[in-house]
Amino acid sequence: MTTRFSFTLAATDGRARTGTISTPRGEIRTPAFMPVGTAATVKAMLPESVRATGADILLGNTYHLMLRPGAERVDRMGGLHRFMNWDRPILTDSGGFQVMSLAGLRKLSEEGVTFSSHIDGSKHQLTPERSMEIQRLLGSDIVMCFDECPALPATEGEVAASMRLSMRWAQRSRDAFGDRPGHALFGIMQGGVTRELREESAAALQQIGFDGYAVGGLAVGEGQEAMFGVLDYATGFLPQDKPRYLMGVGKPDDIVGAVQRGIDMMDCVLPSRSGRTGQAWTRRGQVNIKNARHQDDPRPLDEHCTCPACTGYSRAYLHHVFRAGEMISGMLLTWHNLHYYQELMQGMRDAIAAGRLDAFVADFHAARAEGDIKPI
Ligand SMILES: [Zn+2]
Repeated sequence: MTTRFSFTLAATDGRARTGTISTPRGEIRTPAFMPVGTAATVKAMLPESVRATGADILLGNTYHLMLRPGAERVDRMGGLHRFMNWDRPILTDSGGFQVMSLAGLRKLSEEGVTFSSHIDGSKHQLTPERSMEIQRLLGSDIVMCFDECPALPATEGEVAASMRLSMRWAQRSRDAFGDRPGHALFGIMQGGVTRELREESAAALQQIGFDGYAVGGLAVGEGQEAMFGVLDYATGFLPQDKPRYLMGVGKPDDIVGAVQRGIDMMDCVLPSRSGRTGQAWTRRGQVNIKNARHQDDPRPLDEHCTCPACTGYSRAYLHHVFRAGEMISGMLLTWHNLHYYQELMQGMRDAIAAGRLDAFVADFHAARAEGDIKPI
């Protein structure tokens, strides 16, 4: 097993890429979807179940973990991997994005951000240096730079000023991270939907030098068309030989479109969150298991899916346990959704390697256009 972090491109198809990220904690097949384990758990799933869906890596949230249970406590318990019983790679975000969403509760300066906890109102400060320290205490394998993501709507001037602040913080993050063999630090490109700002940001990050590059500031309400519009040029500003991570994306069709535009890694709470609210993601699109049309349906959610929810249970059962508020409802639907997402990623990895991604994407859209199976 390797002792260092590396990325190997195996094949490209158009702008899409497939390859392998190697870390001391295991390999990550790309394009990769990372389930989100906000509070040191992917809600409703055991770690071995998450692994069984095909996930190579999880995402943990600095903001949530620093407040509860606290980074120093996680460190005393042997680090996040041991604490949550997941021995494979973990990527942690920097806390910047979640602090942004606190809106009125945060105060921004050149030094960093001070904010009040959403849990108990206690005051905290996050700086590039503190974010690096927290992510080191957690034991994260892939550490994200501390950045600022402007709240929308923002003027182009505000987006530019925010991006340049994030670039100064990127340098401070790099300096504070230091030299940690086996661990990676990713820079985060900002610049909103303005091409020149994205290009300036990408150049500034490469000047500093990172192990991978994220596209930040998207999936914040700008819509799929605007997001794809940015990705159409933004991935071209990033080096070929480093992984590219699109943060916080997304719905299955967002993921497919991002992979077509040269993205290697993504994360989103959607499959797990949807699983707890009775929403299933399938080849044929979204299925709302709450709907009364499922109550007498003996068929599985998806007859082609090999997950436990589809091989062991009927739509009628899934409908019943959701309506009855039973915990197994969230467990089964989350498993199915994560399984579907990982199967989609595997399908794209295989298609890129075979040079037939266009045909794969055409089939993907055709199955969704057909819609869910008709009620009995
Ligand atoms: Zn399934």
